[in-house]
Amino acid sequence: MTALRLILALLLLPLPLTAATWKAGMAKADITPKKPIWMAGYGGRSKESEGVLHPLWAKALALEDAKGKRAVIIATDTLGMTRGIYATLKTRLKKEHNLDADQIMLNASHTHTGPVLRGGLYDIYPLDDARIKRIEEYSARLENEIVRITGEALKNLEPVILKHGNGISRFGVNRRENRESQIPQLRSEGASLKGPFDHDVPVLAVYKGLQLKAVVFGYACHSTVLSFYQFSGDYSGFSQIALEKSHPGAMALFSPGCGADINPLPRRQVYQAERYGNMLAAAVEEVLLQKMQTLHPSLTTRLQTVPLEYGALPTDEALAAAAKNTKSYRGRWAARMIQLKITGNLPKTYPYPMQCWRVGKLLWLSMGGEVVVDYSLQFKKQFGARTWVTSYANDVMAYIPTFRVLQEGGYEGHTSMAVYGLPADRWKPNVEELVNAAAKKLVEKTKDKGE
Ligand SMILES: [Zn+2]
Repeated sequence: MTALRLILALLLLPLPLTAATWKAGMAKADITPKKPIWMAGYGGRSKESEGVLHPLWAKALALEDAKGKRAVIIATDTLGMTRGIYATLKTRLKKEHNLDADQIMLNASHTHTGPVLRGGLYDIYPLDDARIKRIEEYSARLENEIVRITGEALKNLEPVILKHGNGISRFGVNRRENRESQIPQLRSEGASLKGPFDHDVPVLAVYKGLQLKAVVFGYACHSTVLSFYQFSGDYSGFSQIALEKSHPGAMALFSPGCGADINPLPRRQVYQAERYGNMLAAAVEEVLLQKMQTLHPSLTTRLQTVPLEYGALPTDEALAAAAKNTKSYRGRWAARMIQLKITGNLPKTYPYPMQCWRVGKLLWLSMGGEVVVDYSLQFKKQFGARTWVTSYANDVMAYIPTFRVLQEGGYEGHTSMAVYGLPADRWKPNVEELVNAAAKKLVEKTKDKGE
C-alpha cells in the first residue's frame, strides 16, 4: 500500500467514539407551604399547620444514557401524589419537557407532617371551602415547581458515573405483628421483633469524577415518627439533611420502599425522627464507602397501568347505618357510596400505575399506592439481588395488600379503603395476582440486553 493509499484508508475509518457515559442534572425547590394549611395523613388533627421544623423539598434528578434516552427521578417531601396531580404532571411534563409517563418517577416520602394535596383523602379531614382553596393553591404551586425543576435538571445534564449498592438499617418494625407500646421493652430484652420487614437501604450514587453530585436512597418504612403541627420531612427529611451536610453540593433524594405495614418505632418525638434519619444516612454513607456496582449507561423505561379490581361494598343496610354518623369519615364515605350506587356511577377498577426501569444492570420497580412489605421481599427473590422496589410512586390511591394481608384484614387489608375514599370494602382477592403478573410482564419488557 502506498503512503497516499494508507492516508486515504485511515481517513475513511470511522471517527473514534467518545467513551459511552451517563449524563445527569439536578435541581430542587423549597416547597414548604407559606401559609397555614391542613396537614396530610392523620384524620385526628384539629387545626391547620403551625410553623416549620425544617423545609420541605421537591428535587429532580435527570438521567440520560449513552444513546440519549432520558428519565427523571422526582423526590418530594409529601404524603403522596394524588390521581389528579399525577394526571396534570404527566400532561405538563410531556408538553413542556417531552417526557412520557414511563420516563417520570414521582416519589413521595409519605411524610405525615406535610400539606394535604388536591383530592387527597378529603373524606377524613374537616375541610371547608377556605381550607380547600388553600390546598388547591398550594397544589398548583407544587405542580409548577415540579415542572420547573424538571426542566432545570434536564438543562443541567453533564457527564457522570452512576453506581449502585445496598446497605442496611434496622429501625423499621412490622406494625401489624408487634405492639407499639411493647417495642422498647422487647428491644431492651434483646427479643427479636416479628416480621416480615425489609431493612435494605438501596443506594444510587451519581459522581462527577470523585465528587458526589447526587444520591438516591430507599427504605421500607412509614414516615410517621412525627404527628405534630410543624412541617417536616420526618425521618427521611432528616436523612436528606444529614447527607447533604456531609457532602456539600450534593443532592439527596428519598425513594421510599414497600413500608405500608412498617413503622419507625418507638416514635412521636423530634429526637427520634432525627435519630432514625441519622441512622439511615449512616447506612447510606456506609454504602458509599464500600465498592459499589458501576452502572453501564443504558436505560430502559416502561409503565403499565393495571386495572385493579374493587371488591364489594358493604350491604345497603350497613352503608345506610354508617351514613347516619355524618361526623365520622366512614359516615361521609358511606353517604357518598350510597349516592354512587343510586346514580349507577360505581367504578369497577382503578388504573394502578406500575413502572419498571433498567438502569445498567439495576432493575427498578416503582409501584403506586402504599405497598406492603411482602411485595418487595418477593420481587427481590424473584428478580434478583439487583432489584430495587419503590412504593408511594406516581399515584398514592390506597394500600396495596398481598392476598395474605387482604385476608387478615386490619387497616392495610381492609379499613384503609374507606379512608382513601375508594368504592369498595377491599380490593378483590386477585389483587396480588394482578400486581405480580404486571411486575413479571414489565420486567420481561425491560430485559437486560447485556453490557
Ligand atoms: Zn401510610
